[in-house]
Amino acid sequence: MRLSLAVLSALTLLGSVLAAPSLHPDALQPRDADMAPHAWMDDQALEVLTIPDAASGTRNLTYFEPSIGGVIVHGDMWFPSLDDLLEFETSSQQGKDHAMTYTNRPWPKATVPFRYVSDEAERKTKSKVEFAINAWGSGAPYLQFVRIVPNGEGSTGIIRISAREDGCYASGVGYRKPTDRYRVNLANACSKGNTVHEFGHILGFAHEHQRPDRENHIHFVCANVDPGPKCTMPPQRNCCDQNLPNGCCKNRYQFSYQVGMTFDGPYDLDSVMHYAKWAFALPGRDTLVPVAGGKTMPDLTPSTPSRLDFAALCRSYPKECKR
Ligand SMILES: [Zn+2]
Repeated sequence: MRLSLAVLSALTLLGSVLAAPSLHPDALQPRDADMAPHAWMDDQALEVLTIPDAASGTRNLTYFEPSIGGVIVHGDMWFPSLDDLLEFETSSQQGKDHAMTYTNRPWPKATVPFRYVSDEAERKTKSKVEFAINAWGSGAPYLQFVRIVPNGEGSTGIIRISAREDGCYASGVGYRKPTDRYRVNLANACSKGNTVHEFGHILGFAHEHQRPDRENHIHFVCANVDPGPKCTMPPQRNCCDQNLPNGCCKNRYQFSYQVGMTFDGPYDLDSVMHYAKWAFALPGRDTLVPVAGGKTMPDLTPSTPSRLDFAALCRSYPKECKR
C-alpha cells in the first residue's frame, strides 16, 4: 500500500515493516473461539432503546456502555455518546450523509491516521493491527494507513487503538469530522479476523447482515436467540415473543435493519462484515439460516475482506480507487 510522505516529521510510517498479506491460520476461527458479536456484553449491562423509525413507527436497539465510555450498538459499533448514536441512527434513516458507506463517509484522501494509546496497547495489538492493515491493503492499495507517534491518548480525527478487556469494537461507520473521536479496541481474545472486521467499520462498512434486503438471502431466526443468563424464559415461549420478562432476549435487536442505509451491490455472505450464523444463538443453534434455495453460510467466519468487500470499498473511494 502507499504511505503518505507528507507527514514525515510527526509520523512513523508503518508500511515498510508490514508483512505481505496472507491468510494466517488464525484467519479461520473455530466456532467457539471467534465470537461474532464482538463486545463482551454483560447481559445485565445491556440496554434497549426505542427510537423513531420512518418505516415502522419505532424500532429497538440494544446497546451498552463500555469501559472507555460512550455506547456500543449493533454488537461492536462504538459512538462517543448516546447523542451521537441517536444522531447517527435517526439521520441514517432519512438518507442523509450517514447513508451506508459505500458512497459516503470515506476518510479524506483515503488516508486513515491511527495511534496506539499506550506502549502496552501497541505491544498487545500491533500484530493484529498490522494483519488488518495488510488485509485491507491487499485489495485496496490506494488506502493509506498512517501511524502517529509517540503513543498516547488525546487527539481527535485519528483512530486511537486500545486493548481493554471488554471486547472488540470500533467507531461507528466511517469518517465524520476532524473533531470527532475514533476508536478501535482489541481485547486479548480478539482474533486477527475480528480486527479486520473492526477496521471495516473504520473504513465505512456497516454490517452486511443488517441490510434491509437480508431476508431475501438469509433468514434471521429470532426463536434461536439466546435469551441470556439472567432470563427465566416462560414455557413455550422464545425470543420471538413480546412482553417477555425483564432481562430476556435483549440481543434480538442486534439484528435490526439499518433502515434507510443504502446498500448497493449484491448481498455478500462471504463479507468480513457479516456475522457468523451462530451470532447470539442458543448453543447448537443458528440465528442466521439460508432462505429456501439460498447459499449455506460457512461454518467459519471469514477473516479477510471478500471480493465484494473490496468492490464496495472501491465505490466508496472512487477517486483514489480509479478502477
Ligand atoms: Zn461489527
